[in-house]
Amino acid sequence: MSKEYDVYIDGKYYPKKEAKISVFDHGFLYGDGVFEGIRAYEGCVFKLNEHIDRLYESAKSIELIIPLSKEDFKKAILETLKRNNLKDAYIRVVISRGIGTLGLNPTLCPKASIIIITDYLEPLYEGKNATAIIASTSRNSVTALNPMIKSLNYLNNILARIEANKAGVNEAIMLNQNGTICEGTGDNIFIVKAGIIITPPSAAAILLGITRQVVIDLAKDESLKIVERSITVHELNNADEAFFTGTAAEIAPLVNVDGRVIGNGEPGPITRILIENFKKIRKCGIPIYS
Ligand SMILES: *Cc1c(COP(=O)(O)O)cnc(C)c1O
Repeated sequence: MSKEYDVYIDGKYYPKKEAKISVFDHGFLYGDGVFEGIRAYEGCVFKLNEHIDRLYESAKSIELIIPLSKEDFKKAILETLKRNNLKDAYIRVVISRGIGTLGLNPTLCPKASIIIITDYLEPLYEGKNATAIIASTSRNSVTALNPMIKSLNYLNNILARIEANKAGVNEAIMLNQNGTICEGTGDNIFIVKAGIIITPPSAAAILLGITRQVVIDLAKDESLKIVERSITVHELNNADEAFFTGTAAEIAPLVNVDGRVIGNGEPGPITRILIENFKKIRKCGIPIYS
């Protein structure tokens, strides 16, 4: 049985079983809120500042005021990890609009709620490869709900995920409104062709992943060629290598899409270099215990 860690809700800690929010919270009623997924490795929180910055940017875009300064927010995350004695952890931060009326008007929700859940999470793909389908459910259009906002509204990604489940694969690749490759349901995508690493740009309607940026930086450090440009399904099908990146997934080699083998069906050489280098830097973060 997994350990039951205390959950932070609005400045107080609750045992897992008692960690509850109101049914009148608009995060529950309307998916009105934002979130972050963060990892800690060997006692250090990886890219904490970047995750907090993105959280506040998501909140600003939906006009949600987080009732805590960035500094106090980081302290609250570190405190929650300390309280739960965690060194290697997955941290889920949720800001919901808070309690309001049954109508959707957010101005009737006086105070946002802050939730910090910490838990142990196994590496999802270490030593394993991912398989995927191209989902028929597309990513949100930027004019409907900008994918750069990491919002609580994930229903279209969940529909794509259901397609992946039905197809018996790990992940669903979502296209944007132009029919080019966007990302997975909760991770970004990269391909490698003729030695060049390619990943869709922010203009392709993706969530700008922090792991994606880490991989771009790692590639530059290794003097590998990397470009941000649109990728077609045809290019993915014919890539030499492909992989997903995300906080939960880390770097996951993608070896099969819609039944087509990518490269030789094994993690490619560039993917391997990036995974090795990622493992070296992931423990360099903000210390929990100092
Ligand atoms: C969170 C997320 C990612 C990955 O972002 P990271 O910052 O690397 O964890 C990619 N796509 C979607 C849709 C996401 O929600």
